[in-house]
Amino acid sequence: MMPGSNHYSIYPLPLCTNESFPRAHLHWMLPMSSEERVRDCHYVWYIEGPSAKYLVDAGIQAERFIAKNVKSVHIQTVDEALNKLGLEVGDIDYVIVTHAHHDHIANLRQFPKAKAIIQRVELEEAQNPFPYAKLRLPPDYPELLKGVRWEIIEGDTQIDDNLELIFTPGHSAGGQSVAVKTAQGKAIITGFCCMQENFDPPAEFKKRGYAFTIGSSHVNPVALYESTQRVIETADVIIPCHEYNNLKDVTKIG
Ligand SMILES: [Zn+2]
Repeated sequence: MMPGSNHYSIYPLPLCTNESFPRAHLHWMLPMSSEERVRDCHYVWYIEGPSAKYLVDAGIQAERFIAKNVKSVHIQTVDEALNKLGLEVGDIDYVIVTHAHHDHIANLRQFPKAKAIIQRVELEEAQNPFPYAKLRLPPDYPELLKGVRWEIIEGDTQIDDNLELIFTPGHSAGGQSVAVKTAQGKAIITGFCCMQENFDPPAEFKKRGYAFTIGSSHVNPVALYESTQRVIETADVIIPCHEYNNLKDVTKIG
């Protein structure tokens, strides 16, 4: 943050892409060929406050995708990404965990001093997952959570004048989105996995009455619908957390 400025900047740090994400998974209950694929991207986001350094999510490791035969392109490790900003993992004070799916927390234990800010219900679900969620988790998932210094919160939480965590469940039990006051207004990094086309769906879906769509990965579609609607209503700038096209403008937001 510049001294005296009354807003923050967001630095999107892309770690890897998934070159072959099934597009049908983006649009719950809507017809789409199972063959269609889109590219998505996995990021962490750096935000610097006057007295603390935040990272939104700890991020994926590309080798995990490659091990699962996901066609993935490794861009950089979280450490390499921070190095480019003149930082290292040891400098981060807080990792804000949007949600505890493995692609958002795999690097959590790499931060030697950071506290991990998470919603209570999200941590409870991560530690005792819903049986069908459990089947999809990597075998070492419980290890990823071990030894993490949790800072547990419940519901909407104002961190400071420029940074607020917004409870947006649905994709997961206790997801949270991150609202940041930037030079372009209130930017919200979604705490539920989505892409730009969820907010601007294909014309044929709009014609059917879907102003926006929700992904098929959720624990509660009604909650995910309400969370998405809340982000749309309150954000000046929506940052869908897996949007590939953010890559075009990775320097900073705001
Ligand atoms: Zn995700």
